[in-house]
Amino acid sequence: MPNPIFSNLPTTIFEEMSGLARTLGAVNLGQGFPDDPGPEAIRARAADAVLNGYNQYPPMAGLPELRQAVAAHYARTQGLDLDWASEVTITSGATEALAAAFLALIEPGDEVVVFQPVYDAYLPLIRRAGGVPKLVSLQPPRWRFDRAMLEAAFTERTRFVVLNNPNNPAGTVLPDEDLALLAELCVARDVTAICDEVWEQVVFGSARHRPLIAFPGMRERCVKIGSAGKMFGLTGWKVGFLCAAPELTHSLARAHQFLTFTTPPNLQTAVAWGLQNSDDWFRQMPRDLERSRDRLAEGLKREGFAVLASAGTYFLNVDLAASGVTEPDRDFCLRAVKEAGVAAIPVSALYEEDAVTAIVRLCFSKRDETLDAGIARLARARELSVQDRMVGEG
Ligand code: PMP
Ligand code: GLN
Repeated sequence: MPNPIFSNLPTTIFEEMSGLARTLGAVNLGQGFPDDPGPEAIRARAADAVLNGYNQYPPMAGLPELRQAVAAHYARTQGLDLDWASEVTITSGATEALAAAFLALIEPGDEVVVFQPVYDAYLPLIRRAGGVPKLVSLQPPRWRFDRAMLEAAFTERTRFVVLNNPNNPAGTVLPDEDLALLAELCVARDVTAICDEVWEQVVFGSARHRPLIAFPGMRERCVKIGSAGKMFGLTGWKVGFLCAAPELTHSLARAHQFLTFTTPPNLQTAVAWGLQNSDDWFRQMPRDLERSRDRLAEGLKREGFAVLASAGTYFLNVDLAASGVTEPDRDFCLRAVKEAGVAAIPVSALYEEDAVTAIVRLCFSKRDETLDAGIARLARARELSVQDRMVGEG
């Protein structure tokens, strides 16, 4: 009998919390997905393509119509000049795009600068590719890096930096000065940036998303990753975009061909149509989300929670310590889902070392009823936590 083989990879916090929410019938403000089903016209295109369209393998790099639509979308919205034929690859979600980038580009021993809190997929994939992560810890409430932090992390072995902007879970959209600083270091140290910009279209108020690839010297040293799932609130679709200069794209495509080879053509067709016909959606969607963000934030503040700012993504954070809750975020989240019926994400799960343990992430891309139920249940969880502490102290 062979020895059983166990994976040393952890279960992601998103699945753990969604699993508990499903089992316990809790309101789920944990994993990031909207209550709403997404734009009907785009879903209708996909349905039509399933029934009447071509359902065999599309070209490995993606349908030309979608690659053209991606290049045109980024030209319109971000002023980029991507050549669809040599610089755009379609992947099965941003997750596959990230995996392709790490597996194609990282050589064993390469150092990769990564910011904490870190999106759950980065570190396991970087390590499987042989990379050595160098962590830069960002702290609430501003979650910003500075020159000293970057200089401490970059060494002569640094070959890559991974940037997630707008940031999940922090809800920050980096100002130009921070991006310029990072670009300056990348150019000076000959480092390539892998830019996870899946939230680029989900930005509120006066905040503006600027792609790192648009900064001086970065055009040839950036891999820009996007996701139709986030653009259109269709998170289960898993249609991603990998954009990079031709030589990088050539390497990325070599990894993509052995990961998934292609992405469902019916969804690709629908996303291509969506990118060409969604100016109204791209205007309205952030406004609706901003209203939901404000509803959740106001409700939580009324219940005594300290709420951090959110300029983008589906998420806002509460500071437990500043809300009178002394138990660590993970304990609070387990209590919230088990005793009060609401799931949330403890942000410490997204740190590998020196975890910040007082921050809880909440998803607001939800209907008003879901948000209101979530607020009441979080208030209950806070009450139970405070009561328990007083009993312990008393
Ligand atoms: N990166 C970040 C920062 C994300 O938040 C997500 C999904 N929430 C992804 C990547 C994965 O995107 P996809 O579903 O397109 O694989
Ligand atoms: N990106 C989603 C989130 O942050 C989760 C995606 C996943 O479960 N892998 O909630």
